[in-house]
Amino acid sequence: MSKLKVLMASPEVVPFAKTGGLADVVGALPKELEKLDVEVKIILPKYKQMDVTKFKINEAKAAFLFPVGSTMERGKVWYSKIGKNVQILLIENEKFFDRDGLYGTSTGDYPDNLKRFVFFSRGVLETIRLLDWKPEIIHCHDWQTALIPTYLKTLYKEDEFFQGIKTVFTIHNLAYQGVFPPEQFVSTGLNWEEYNPDKLEFYNKINTLKAGLVYSDKLTTVSPQYSKEIQTPEFGCGLEGVLQARSTDLSGILNGIDYSIWSPGKDTLLPIKYTANQLKISDKLKLKEHLLNLHTMPVESAEKVPILGSISRLADQKGYDLIAAALPMLMNMDIRLIILGTGDEKYHTLLSDLAKLYPEKIAVNLVFDEALAHLIYAGTDMFLMPSNYEPCGLGQLIALRYGTIPLVNPTGGLVDTVQDYNPETEEGNGFVMQRYSPEALLDAISRGVNLYQDKEKWKKLMTKGMMLDFSWKTSAEKYLELYKSLVPAIE
Ligand code: ADP
Repeated sequence: MSKLKVLMASPEVVPFAKTGGLADVVGALPKELEKLDVEVKIILPKYKQMDVTKFKINEAKAAFLFPVGSTMERGKVWYSKIGKNVQILLIENEKFFDRDGLYGTSTGDYPDNLKRFVFFSRGVLETIRLLDWKPEIIHCHDWQTALIPTYLKTLYKEDEFFQGIKTVFTIHNLAYQGVFPPEQFVSTGLNWEEYNPDKLEFYNKINTLKAGLVYSDKLTTVSPQYSKEIQTPEFGCGLEGVLQARSTDLSGILNGIDYSIWSPGKDTLLPIKYTANQLKISDKLKLKEHLLNLHTMPVESAEKVPILGSISRLADQKGYDLIAAALPMLMNMDIRLIILGTGDEKYHTLLSDLAKLYPEKIAVNLVFDEALAHLIYAGTDMFLMPSNYEPCGLGQLIALRYGTIPLVNPTGGLVDTVQDYNPETEEGNGFVMQRYSPEALLDAISRGVNLYQDKEKWKKLMTKGMMLDFSWKTSAEKYLELYKSLVPAIE
């Protein structure tokens, strides 16, 4: 029996290109699928930022040509590898991908993003034909790849090579839909018939994500709870009707985290390593002191004063409106707050102003820094994640692994992964807000701060979180089951 062949198409993949959790998912899931005997290849654009030497990216000398709008565009294929033998295919086109940002700059999105990802989506199909490698499944991720299923069922429908290929489309965040003005429709190369309310048209615009929702064989989101929420007007971003119509093909599979990167017992970025089995509070204390020193914050009472951490996009989605509203009160509490993130300018200003006023209480790192993220996950006591909505969320899973207790608003994947701690029964693994408000955030923080003084209970809570299994293995098995439901001939 030949192996099941899956092609993952994604605009970002760790370690090659990352702006969010999507990159972590596509970097990790294939490695687990490989262990389950699936032949996986990953395909993404070859961006300017990629260090060809560091990532051992080689030119494949394969090239293709096809029209995007009124011009012919050339794509060249490069390759690399992750895991044992997961091949990475990278599509090069200097005009589209040799730019400073992945999708835009600080002044906004690139105006030709539709063209760029039309080129990529068709390029994915051209590449596999060129390489004569036909997968049973193409697994697409987010709007940038959402036209692939459409092309398979329209432009490439009669092409012998593509017959029988099935598609899975994963929504990592429904709010990002890839919406463009109708004047750009010609660059899709599709027949105008596709521009209607049952297909790509959405309130007089082209909606690429909607194309993925309509044309893919199966749809998934990254947590069971979010798959239910997006079928409601509150979370459906206008697409709830389309999603309801596809509800029998829509499911939620929780993301895992890559324990080869995120494990405090073997994390080379930490000055001290620790495990759940031999957890010593003194180790955590040393890591706290290291982190405080790094931020020139007072270390004297580190044992008594809990440190709250946040590693996040600084955006309203992540609950930063609540954090901002709660900050004046937080500055009166006996806590420290260490923030790592980039995002909305207003939060950059607010946070750096506050850090100047209260340098002993709050430290702010307005950068993207993977190494610092490891130190913060390890060296803080509680992890703030009061998201307004959250497709899955990786931060709370990493925090649990590092014995840092998550504090969350119960939405999306946070509902599936964090249960409120009850000091009487000792059930639960984190602190869950009663509602989405600054008061509820402060209440949950106070409950955490109080419990922190009970060292015995706190240690038990830390250990419990560290022992939970959010590895990719379980999720990969679920994806495999889904693939097999589309390809019944594969055992
Ligand atoms: P998102 O909605 O941004 O994808 P997730 O929680 O799913 O949120 O994933 C965010 C990932 O990015 C986590 O792995 C988190 O640790 C990481 N991250 C976010 N901001 C930063 C930053 N400024 N520096 C380093 N890592 C970051």
